[in-house]
Amino acid sequence: YHAKRNHLGVAGYEVENDTNSFEQLTLLADLRTGIDRGELELHYQPKIGLPGRSVAGLEALVRWRHPIRGLLGPQAFVPEAEQSDLMLNLTEAVLDMALGQQRAWREAGRDVPVAVNVGAACLRDSAFPARVGELIRRHDAVAGRLTLEITESFFIIDPDAAAAALSVLREQGVRISIDDFGVGYSSMSYLQSMPLDELKIDRKFTAEILTTDRGRAIAGAIIDLAHALDLTVVAEGIEDEQTLTAIVDMGCEQAQGYLMCRPLPPDGIPAWMDSWSVPALS
Ligand code: C2E
Ligand code: MG
Ligand code: MG
Ligand code: MG
Repeated sequence: YHAKRNHLGVAGYEVENDTNSFEQLTLLADLRTGIDRGELELHYQPKIGLPGRSVAGLEALVRWRHPIRGLLGPQAFVPEAEQSDLMLNLTEAVLDMALGQQRAWREAGRDVPVAVNVGAACLRDSAFPARVGELIRRHDAVAGRLTLEITESFFIIDPDAAAAALSVLREQGVRISIDDFGVGYSSMSYLQSMPLDELKIDRKFTAEILTTDRGRAIAGAIIDLAHALDLTVVAEGIEDEQTLTAIVDMGCEQAQGYLMCRPLPPDGIPAWMDSWSVPALS
């Protein structure tokens, strides 16, 4: 990994210099002004507690209301931002919005935990844990009701820096989740060394629980391993009742997926929660 920073603060690669295309630089410049102009929005997808099907939390998923291209999903700009110095601005903007929204819901009588996705660049910045603490205080939030979902592909780059940042965050009471577990490179080594509270099984594995014996064996082994390490297990990408039943039988604590709820704009959450709690209570 030989990242170099050019005069625009964009990481370039010695082997593939053409990745710094004009289009990417334009995208990053637009994103920088877009963040300042408040063009980022969050949609929220519930995490469901099992087996009772309570609402265990809401994961914030970023979207960019681009003035020309319309509403963009994270895959259209997060990977580029990850390679630049914009990731910190983006994550702080997302945390600020998510904690502000959590406070608004709390003041309206819905006290619900939130989760925010955090990319690699943030944990490499030694100032990040303190910034999270400031945002928690600014929004009168409870640290234990904020989960940071970390994508594992990062850890391979600088595992010591990651462990240090995560330790500081965890000492403040923030929960740490490992996202998309199993699709990265060195899952086992950092399960051993990183402070963690939660493990999310990637959709790739949950999708195969019913269709292949291998898929079921791998998902079962991940769940057993996580439980042996005292981690809460969340299964991502649940799209049908049979898979939900299977992961309940396998002992998963939480589930997320289109079966229960697609990511919704914040305005849609109260109505969804009301309609969801009716069957759960009966
Ligand atoms: P993720 O954190 O693993 O989020 C789950 C993604 O899967 C979301 O896509 C969600 O809409 C989608 N999904 C949820 N349930 C289902 C399902 O049942 N079936 C299928 N096919 N898909 C499902 P989205 O919103 O496009 O986000 C993609 C990724 O972008 C996220 O994956 C996360 O890694 C990243 N991301 C999103 N928001 C942020 C952010 O604020 N910061 C950072 N750093 N990354 C973010
Ligand atoms: Mg996530
Ligand atoms: Mg995930
Ligand atoms: Mg995933």
